[in-house]
Amino acid sequence: MISADCHIHSHHSGDSDASMEDMIGVAMQKGLDTLCFTEHQDFDFPTAYEPAGFFDLNVPAYLAELQSLQETYRGRIELLLGTEIGLQPSCVRENLDFVRTHPFDFVIASVHVAAGQDPYHKDYWADMRARAAARLPGADAETLRQEAEREGMGFYLAAVLENLQLYEDFDVLGHLDLANRYFGEGRTAYAHADHAEVIDEILRLLVEKDKGLDCNTNLLWRYGADEMNPTREILARFRELGGRILTFGTDAHEAAHVGDALDTARAIARSAGFTEYCVFRNRTAEWRPL
Ligand SMILES: [Zn+2]
Ligand SMILES: [Zn+2]
Repeated sequence: MISADCHIHSHHSGDSDASMEDMIGVAMQKGLDTLCFTEHQDFDFPTAYEPAGFFDLNVPAYLAELQSLQETYRGRIELLLGTEIGLQPSCVRENLDFVRTHPFDFVIASVHVAAGQDPYHKDYWADMRARAAARLPGADAETLRQEAEREGMGFYLAAVLENLQLYEDFDVLGHLDLANRYFGEGRTAYAHADHAEVIDEILRLLVEKDKGLDCNTNLLWRYGADEMNPTREILARFRELGGRILTFGTDAHEAAHVGDALDTARAIARSAGFTEYCVFRNRTAEWRPL
């Protein structure tokens, strides 16, 4: 069993209203012994999507509430101080300073904005369809949809690679192939072979720097997919290339989803050959059997 959810967002994140204490209660009900909050800090998040400062984290307030809860729950559940930083080429310096000047246990580095565009938003996909239509004049709607999804995934993965070449103070890469969360209408499948080259480059960089992957179950419990981010094919390739470090988390923004689909995620990771996973404390990995 996986006994740690290491990717959750409470009210300290701009896009969540969840109470930390409610999340802890659900974690304990589900038998978890460790919970790592990973509140958002996204510098330079495009103001076309959210007001300026929407994803700025108030670390003193977050730290104070977490320390008080650590006291309250001591001996019952371990609570860790994590963050999920958003990588963009424009804020490498800000991210370095942010991580270096706060006492985080765990840092997830994620790409939420690819070349100024967020795949969570519909305009990202409209742009991808327009590119596909320009490339394939006269193509039917189904072909254009498939091409837009291929283009949208490729565009996202290229941004992940670019950002990893610029920034390295983190523990795991968040939701490596996130773009398929937003294909729409329940679709999440994509062909690994279409992106094998860029995925390999990303994985080789992570292995070289001894960084891990965030196994993100959101796709399983929210989107009903049979894969998480990243897919089992990516996990198997990571292992083949010498990757060792996996962490598991739900990406829950509501208390009810803390701990969801961790068993399925465990089965997927085991099928990809992994027998251990990690929990980070004071930026150091503790290994647990998977
Ligand atoms: Zn994220
Ligand atoms: Zn997240």
